[in-house]
Amino acid sequence: MKIFLDSIGCRLNQSEIERFATQFRAAGHTIVNSAGEAELVVVNTCTVTSAAASDSRQKIRQAARQGAGEIVVTGCWSTLEPDSAAVLPNVRRVVSNLDKDHLVVEVLGVQEEDFDLEPVARKPLPGVHLRTRAFIKTQDGCDNHCTFCITRIARGPGRSETIKAVLSDIQHALKGGTREVVLSGVHLGSWGYDLSPRMHLRDLIQAVLQDTNVERLRLSSLEPWDLDETFFQLWENPRLCRHLHLPLQSGSEQTLHRMARHTTPAAFRQLIASARQAVPGMAVTTDLIVGFPGEDDREFAESLAFVQEMEFAGGHVFSYSARPGTPAVRLNNPVSGTVAHRRSEQMRQVLAESSTLFREQHLGSEASVLWEATNAYGPTGWKLHGLTDNYLKVEVHSPLRLWNQINRVRLDRLTDQGLAGSLIE
Ligand code: SF4
Repeated sequence: MKIFLDSIGCRLNQSEIERFATQFRAAGHTIVNSAGEAELVVVNTCTVTSAAASDSRQKIRQAARQGAGEIVVTGCWSTLEPDSAAVLPNVRRVVSNLDKDHLVVEVLGVQEEDFDLEPVARKPLPGVHLRTRAFIKTQDGCDNHCTFCITRIARGPGRSETIKAVLSDIQHALKGGTREVVLSGVHLGSWGYDLSPRMHLRDLIQAVLQDTNVERLRLSSLEPWDLDETFFQLWENPRLCRHLHLPLQSGSEQTLHRMARHTTPAAFRQLIASARQAVPGMAVTTDLIVGFPGEDDREFAESLAFVQEMEFAGGHVFSYSARPGTPAVRLNNPVSGTVAHRRSEQMRQVLAESSTLFREQHLGSEASVLWEATNAYGPTGWKLHGLTDNYLKVEVHSPLRLWNQINRVRLDRLTDQGLAGSLIE
């Protein structure tokens, strides 16, 4: 059977469809590039903002329009709104996040024990999701109670995968030629808290570095309160990418308090200083919410100034989106859409400036780049796009299509979002 897998939202959703792909392929099926070619489509939905929920519905309708006769829907949006998902065109089954691990066996009507994943190597998903990096799921769910967050409601309590299961997924990826692995989770920093004996993410990272020969290991989003300065000793191993994505959400202490985030600007400042001292060149990126209920001009000004001070290498800014069922919807003093929009522009501007500053520091230097996207350029050339370990987006022109290779590059000039360079022979 031909199957198309689609996903909206975070890296965890991405890691899940990669796992579905391996399982479908192990059962003898083929993963195709578009819903139009497929007999079965699986859509992994998202509900982190109202826009993500609407994108999820749109993807399902689009797949039906393109001719997908059988659609299976899973993920955060359909877990919270299964009835709305079930009535969309050609949706045959809605699988809750809690049953997601068994989605493939249930859809195919086979037994778990009939699966033999051992001989199956990871292949990047075709089409828009063609990625050289493998996103590996290490845990699901979250035990925190950030007041804006719908994800923890859609994903349930924190559950860690065992070290053995994570290593096995990574070995499959390496067998398929993966050079970089990204450890993913809803709340990656809580990995191991529910295991017996209790473990810490550093134990998992050490095991991956020790027991696999993955060339690059990257960590997806980490909550700042799960880390302390000893964590950064892990970077003595140069295979660990110098990139920390630490969602700050706001630089105002009062706003953070209303969000029920377990951090303060002072603690965050200290953590970043330790990281930068321990790991020169570390890229620190973040997520920010503007227009959270009660964020007045003073709080926003504090937040903006703090973000400026942190000199992030990049980040995402979201205007607060009220998600039904979360405590924040009951908070007083909502911020108008116009004000939130203006604040989001200002915050983006500050992040753009610090990103430029970070990239400028690398001008004229050399770096190793893993090529992730390759587009034909002119009659004989290729335009290659890739990442350095510290998350600089680099492009070069090359006569060779060096997809999934790591090459040394001299970083010559800034582009809109990254740097352009030249290959070093
Ligand atoms: S840490 Fe907060 S924002 Fe992140 S998933 Fe948990 S509750 Fe949501």
